[in-house]
Amino acid sequence: MARRFETIEDIAWRGLRLRLWCYGCARASEMDAGEMLQSFVAKGWPIDLLSARGRFRCRSCRSSADVLILPASPPPPAPPVPERTWAQEVEAFFHGSRKKRRLVERQPPR
Ligand SMILES: [Zn+2]
Repeated sequence: MARRFETIEDIAWRGLRLRLWCYGCARASEMDAGEMLQSFVAKGWPIDLLSARGRFRCRSCRSSADVLILPASPPPPAPPVPERTWAQEVEAFFHGSRKKRRLVERQPPR
């Protein structure tokens, strides 16, 4: 990595997410860096990663001593939905309703 991340803002600016990693139990969770930055600023908390670490508590071991904040790439965008032709739409509709009908028939009588 060319440059170290020093604040939540650094991470938010790059469009990355915050990954919280707990050394204690090796658990990670991710959150939106922009949203976190906003709430830190709103609360008047310092946004440097060293002080921010203490604000996060591991959900599992309830410890904030071993939580590390790392930048994480956002999930890749969903692949574009291929456009369906009208014939495919109709086919999908019929398949769908046939499947639904079968499910209804299969239900045991009460
Ligand atoms: Zn933990």
